[in-house]
Amino acid sequence: LRGKGLAIAIDLGGTQLRAALVDASGAIVARASAATDVAGGPQATVVQMSELCARIGVEEHRSGIVGLGVCAPGPLDSETGTIIGIPTLPGWEDFPLAATLAQKFGLPVVVENDGIAAANGEWRFGAGRGLRHLVYVTVSTGIGGGVVVDGRLLHGRRGLAGHVGHMIMAPDGPICSCGARGCFEALASGSALAEAGRQAAAAHRSGALAALPPRVVTARDVVAAARGGDGVATSLLDAEATWLGTGFSNLAHLYSPEAIVMGGGVSQAFDLLHPKIVAAFEAYAMPPFRTTKIVAAELGDNAGLVGAAALVRDKEAQPG
Ligand SMILES: [Zn+2]
Repeated sequence: LRGKGLAIAIDLGGTQLRAALVDASGAIVARASAATDVAGGPQATVVQMSELCARIGVEEHRSGIVGLGVCAPGPLDSETGTIIGIPTLPGWEDFPLAATLAQKFGLPVVVENDGIAAANGEWRFGAGRGLRHLVYVTVSTGIGGGVVVDGRLLHGRRGLAGHVGHMIMAPDGPICSCGARGCFEALASGSALAEAGRQAAAAHRSGALAALPPRVVTARDVVAAARGGDGVATSLLDAEATWLGTGFSNLAHLYSPEAIVMGGGVSQAFDLLHPKIVAAFEAYAMPPFRTTKIVAAELGDNAGLVGAAALVRDKEAQPG
């Protein structure tokens, strides 16, 4: 039906495991998901991957499938396809994921950092279509990303480039998931916004956040309260946007992108954040960088899947 253009994509997440069949245009033609078997470790999760592949019809489409692309949280070594370690998934240290899946499926396998895979997805099929230089930043539980420079996806040594969430922006700032202090992620992730919301809920006697039980306030609650006109929540989003614009100015100075593409759960508030992001960006970026566009991602949760699928398809299309 579709010739030899299909690729399997698997998105390994700390809570969800997803699989999809993706065609050459980046369209998802079948999908399935399950809760990641965290306790079962990599062996159980690889079995889950097989089950999801059965559900999306991998056997039926076998002759049309060029390979399998996996995106996973880092740090991982995409040159060897080995997970280095995943903070939210115990037991994955040094697990040879690409080799294991290649043996199991008898297909070429690419394992890519989820931020880099999503950058590729947005570049090829989303908000970065047609650009030669872009930085993708996903702002959700953490902050991740990927970089395209001179029309190429940047990998660096062991494929570890683009860990944009761990730029240190305030050495005396809050502790990051990586153990350092004041990383971009520790200051501006959805988790950081939620923590600011919890502190505001505990500190204020009135307003939308104070009406919530302080310990359960999420980033989504802060955004909803700001949309409802709550002043405290609006000031938290303004601070969030200022950190984002500051971080984006660092990224513009490093990579000189045509656009910075913002994805992740917090980008659902992109319309609220954008004016203050731009204000901070223009305050900190040197004049030639101030025309850099800051845009919302277009592919949502699918960016990593379609980006990983495109990576394995490209790899198979290259001679040698
Ligand atoms: Zn960090």
